[in-house]
Amino acid sequence: MDVSHLIDGLNDKQREAVAAQLGNYLVLAGAGSGKTRVLVHRIAWLMQVEYASPFSVMAVTFTNKAAAEMRGRIEQLMHGTASGLWCGTFHGLCHRILRAHHLDANLPQDFQILDSDDQQRLLRRLIKAQNLDEKHWPARQASWYINAKKDEGLRPHHIDAQFDPVEKTWLRVYAAYQEACDRAGLVDFAELLLRCHELLRDKEHIREHYQARFQHILVDEFQDTNNIQYAWLRMMAGNSAKVMIVGDDDQSIYGWRGAKIENISRFLQDFPGAETIRLEQNYRSTGNILKASNHLIENNAERMGKSLWTEGQEGELISVYSAFNELDEARFVVGKIKAWQDEGGALNDTAILYRNNAQSRVLEEALIQAGLPYRIYGGMRFFERQEIKDALAYLRMIGNRFDDAAFERVVNTPARGLGDRTLETIRLAARDRGATMWEASNQLLEEQVLAGRAANSLRRFVELVNALEDDTREMALFQQTDYVIQHSGLRAMYEAEKGEKAQARIDNLEELVTATRQFEVPEEVQEEMSPLSAFLSHAALEAGEGQADEFDDAAQLMTLHSAKGLEFPMVFMVGVEEGMFPSQMSAEEAGRLEEERRLCYVGMTRAMKKLYITHAEMRRVYGKDMFHKASRFIRELPEDCLEEVRMRAKVSRPAAATGRFSQTQTQENFNQTGFSLGQRVQHPKFGEGTIINFEGSGQQSRVQVAFNGEGIKWLVTQYAKLEAM
Ligand code: ATP
Ligand code: MG
Repeated sequence: MDVSHLIDGLNDKQREAVAAQLGNYLVLAGAGSGKTRVLVHRIAWLMQVEYASPFSVMAVTFTNKAAAEMRGRIEQLMHGTASGLWCGTFHGLCHRILRAHHLDANLPQDFQILDSDDQQRLLRRLIKAQNLDEKHWPARQASWYINAKKDEGLRPHHIDAQFDPVEKTWLRVYAAYQEACDRAGLVDFAELLLRCHELLRDKEHIREHYQARFQHILVDEFQDTNNIQYAWLRMMAGNSAKVMIVGDDDQSIYGWRGAKIENISRFLQDFPGAETIRLEQNYRSTGNILKASNHLIENNAERMGKSLWTEGQEGELISVYSAFNELDEARFVVGKIKAWQDEGGALNDTAILYRNNAQSRVLEEALIQAGLPYRIYGGMRFFERQEIKDALAYLRMIGNRFDDAAFERVVNTPARGLGDRTLETIRLAARDRGATMWEASNQLLEEQVLAGRAANSLRRFVELVNALEDDTREMALFQQTDYVIQHSGLRAMYEAEKGEKAQARIDNLEELVTATRQFEVPEEVQEEMSPLSAFLSHAALEAGEGQADEFDDAAQLMTLHSAKGLEFPMVFMVGVEEGMFPSQMSAEEAGRLEEERRLCYVGMTRAMKKLYITHAEMRRVYGKDMFHKASRFIRELPEDCLEEVRMRAKVSRPAAATGRFSQTQTQENFNQTGFSLGQRVQHPKFGEGTIINFEGSGQQSRVQVAFNGEGIKWLVTQYAKLEAM
């Protein structure tokens, strides 16, 4: 067979990795050097040259999107399908194993996945039930504690907290939480891994089955694996599997979630004969982008050390824009994207990257105003939106009455007159009897403990859920979903809310029906699961990735973290300010500062041709105006790779001067109006305010003013009778 297409077009080092003898390998290389490409070619090589069966190959990546892309590329190289091959995320693969062996894993067949929101809701209830003050014992912290312990592979009985009263309390919460999850058949994200690891550890026949099956294991983005993931990999690999890991220590950005860069050196020790292959040629970015990112990362002390070069052109300089505020920043970014589109560029080729999810809103609004479609990865993901979670909770109740998290979510949504007191009674009864909320409710109703009105409301809920199941038993999943949205009262509830937001929620509910209609139960679980539980697992696992139609041309918005592994011709990194990026807290701690710098490196190296970096002098953060200096990361870039973008209006506040970029450039159109950004003005009707934005020129020009007490308004300069103050 001709296999030249598997190595043609690769450089020598890449070829060496793809065509290496069977063995254990670490491919260590910087961003854009073709690590993922090598992994994909290696998999095809194993099957076509080493005659490995697809059934003997397992590939692990970091996101569902990456996994789907990888499978697609492998099939392309194979000129066909690669069925039998396992390709997924750690969570996805563990989920699959647990489904197949739920009895051995001590889980009910229809176990459901608890996402972080549900987890916190459940924890809040348990913390209350322990008579702890939520102010001192916040659910969020409990979830950090529990997830961190699980990531370390620790169950409550492994932890000795007798000398630490604070930890002792968290431990109690952990134990209660685990009990509640086990009782209801709920599995959180960390549990997927831990439970699967324990399954392999304790059940010899299962372990031997997988160890015999997967002779080839390949892992992308290895630098971000945590302890339990590493332990799981070792367990899956056993003594005979050949493992290839690829990674970049400079791109380790999940230390805060327990990822261990040290896993790279552990791999070299633990896997016999493991060899390191280094790739040094970058194929992704222009010379300027590459030079600047290399320069930046050199400020980190702890590195395994790598150098990257490119044959590509120097390309355009990196543009730095210093915005007046976040609105000005968004306007700038959207203007550039619009111009790109006008020149025939695809929106899909543009990405806006930010440090925190909350930063997306202003950008979204500017994009909507400009009529530019966009897609958000992460953040308020589709499956995490309130109305979607409400509908899913009803569906979960249909599948599993013992799902306490779902019960809590919808027992009084839409409102049916169930007060906090009644709920508290149900919770207490559940706790005292070691029962689920559903069981406790039915018992209380039977024993006629509840007052007339409360009992009626609760009975209505119980009957509703039973009826939803009975009525939809014969329906296809999407009909069932539609029926549930109608008859649960959710749709009517949101219709009654009126307004744009409510309409968006209804649109989303409709989108959910579409999602269930498009959903196909994965072949490998068709026997074990109903379409409903398969869909619910899918919703929990894939929350939001690829929410919009994949074929729509849309600008891509995402956090820097979720941009890992991806590439775009044009990239905007926004909010690159001290206090935002690096954040205040991480700036004070060397280790965390280095991780932030790696995150900056990840962001910059996503760009293929053009990179914009923006920062705002003033930004509203949690309702407060904050003044920020340009980030030290901008100062760490070599000046000869940068250009300052000059298009902003004159800013009169002298305090605004930052960094080495001058701020005095004027924007002619705007100046003709006689106003400038940041200027205080007086309006006859709305009173005093500050100019925060503008658009248009001459007669058409409009300004946006933040009035004290009257909110933010757009005004046509010509008619507004604004007076400078
Ligand atoms: P990251 O660290 O960001 O995950 P990576 O090392 O995985 O990056 P890839 O995504 O595999 O890098 O490759 C970066 C880009 O370079 C891709 O567009 C890929 O197709 C291209 N590329 C890789 N190797 C070659 C090659 N030998 N010839 C041409 N293009 C290549
Ligand atoms: Mg990659």
